Amino acid sequence: MHPSRLLRVSVTLVLASASVTVTTSPAVAAEFGSFGTTPRLLGTSIVYVEEHVGERFDSALRSSIAFVDRYTGSDMRLGRCRTGYRCIRVVQSNATNGHGAWTSWTYGRKNSEIRLSATLARKNWYTRRSIIDHELGHANGARHNSRCTSRMWPDYRCRNKRLPARTFTTAERSALARW
Ligand SMILES: [Zn+2]
Repeated sequence: MHPSRLLRVSVTLVLASASVTVTTSPAVAAEFGSFGTTPRLLGTSIVYVEEHVGERFDSALRSSIAFVDRYTGSDMRLGRCRTGYRCIRVVQSNATNGHGAWTSWTYGRKNSEIRLSATLARKNWYTRRSIIDHELGHANGARHNSRCTSRMWPDYRCRNKRLPARTFTTAERSALARW
C-alpha cells in the first residue's frame, strides 16, 4: 500500500544491450501508462514468490497470493526465483519512500520487488493482508483506484475508516488477467 495518494514507481527497463532506469513522476495517471499492453513475456503462469519476510507477514502473504492468483490466472508459488519464470521478491525494508510498502518491477514485470516496512509490520493482520493484496495487485498490473471500491485504493483505509473491499474492479481484473 502506498498510504499517500501518490505513487512513485522505479521502473528498470532491461533492453537487449542497454539498461535504462526510468523513474516516473508521482502522477497516478501516468503510473502504468506504458505497461498496459505489455504482453506476457514468459509463456508460463508460474510465478515464484521469494519470501524474505518474517513470521509477522507470512500468513498474510500466503492469503494474498491465493487471492490475487484467482484474478491473474497465475500460479504463484513460494520459493526461490528461477530462470525462465517471473519472480516477485518480498522483502522487509523501510526504503518505501515514506509509504507502508513499495513495489517496483522490471520490464514486463518479469522481476518485481515488494518492500514491506516496519510501520506496516505494526498494523494488524487484516491491514497487513490488505496492503499485501494491494502490492501484489501492482506487481501483476493493477493500478490505483480513485474510489474506495477495491484493494487498489491507495490508502490504508477508506474515508469511512474501513479497509478497502477485498475485491478488484472490472478494469483491475482485466489488467490482472493480462499478466
Ligand atoms: Zn499503490
